[in-house]
Amino acid sequence: MSGPVSASDAQPDVAECGRPAGPTVEVVSSRTASVGGLEVRRALPRRQRRTIGAWCFADHFGPTGAGPGGGIRVGPHPHIGLQTVTWLVEGEVVHTDSLGSEQLVRPGQLNLMTAGRGVAHAEQTPSSYRGALHGVQLWVAQPDVTRYHDPSFAHHAELPVAEYGSCRATVLIGNLAGGRSPARRETGLLGVELAAAADRRAGEPAVIPLDRQFEHGLVVLAGEMAVGDDVVRPGALAYLGAGRDELAVGLAPGSRALLLGGRPFGEDLLMWWNFVARTRGEIEQAWTEWEHGTPRFGRVASELDRIAAPRPSWLPAE
Ligand code: MN
Repeated sequence: MSGPVSASDAQPDVAECGRPAGPTVEVVSSRTASVGGLEVRRALPRRQRRTIGAWCFADHFGPTGAGPGGGIRVGPHPHIGLQTVTWLVEGEVVHTDSLGSEQLVRPGQLNLMTAGRGVAHAEQTPSSYRGALHGVQLWVAQPDVTRYHDPSFAHHAELPVAEYGSCRATVLIGNLAGGRSPARRETGLLGVELAAAADRRAGEPAVIPLDRQFEHGLVVLAGEMAVGDDVVRPGALAYLGAGRDELAVGLAPGSRALLLGGRPFGEDLLMWWNFVARTRGEIEQAWTEWEHGTPRFGRVASELDRIAAPRPSWLPAE
């Protein structure tokens, strides 16, 4: 799935508000947007909070109703300077990219595309699929040292799982108490799905061990979760700050969330549409190359129409 990030999410050039020095619970409402025929709750970036570690984008979609014609249809579009993470709770999505990859992703599996200097992809629910669609699309900003590298794609069907009381934790990216995800990671980063174990009743909070150097945030996908005195539900991001050795979280039955963490990203990002860069010049170059179909982004074998890039807002009208 794609952004696009717009000025409604976060103004391209305005500095983020400060980071609290230590643990906090700051609940920021998500913005409703539409992507590929789906309504999404955009938790990142927001004006109040642009990044958590290198996590710079988070769209929560669904659950949609079941039936034909449902699901997502996002035609070929480009990316630079980021990794895309597709994670499903329910449904199926086929990823096709300009590297020649074609990969079906199902719940509990990770699709991770690394854009580097440029890649293009399309994502759609198979036409034969009749169930509901529910999941999240995330972006990870690449640091300067890797963001000009070649693009790549990986699918991880097996991920480490840990149990914390009534909570089942699946490690998408990074390490959690010795459980190490095989996914490519370019900065200190953590992505974990927390799910209330089906066979247990909610009771004492689950206590998740954390790296105190990382800042963290929680995006609830279903049900509700309690963090201290705050109850977090779908449609919001709970920013938790840094300096925590552990997180006590109370999971209501049936609840599910993504715990995002990372070392605060030390580079200033400029995000426009589906591009993550540092300068306007880089964005303009990528926009021009996509619009002219240069070899930089390659070709995607997709039945869907290619998505045109909007003209950067800071350029004078033609
Ligand atoms: Mn995309």
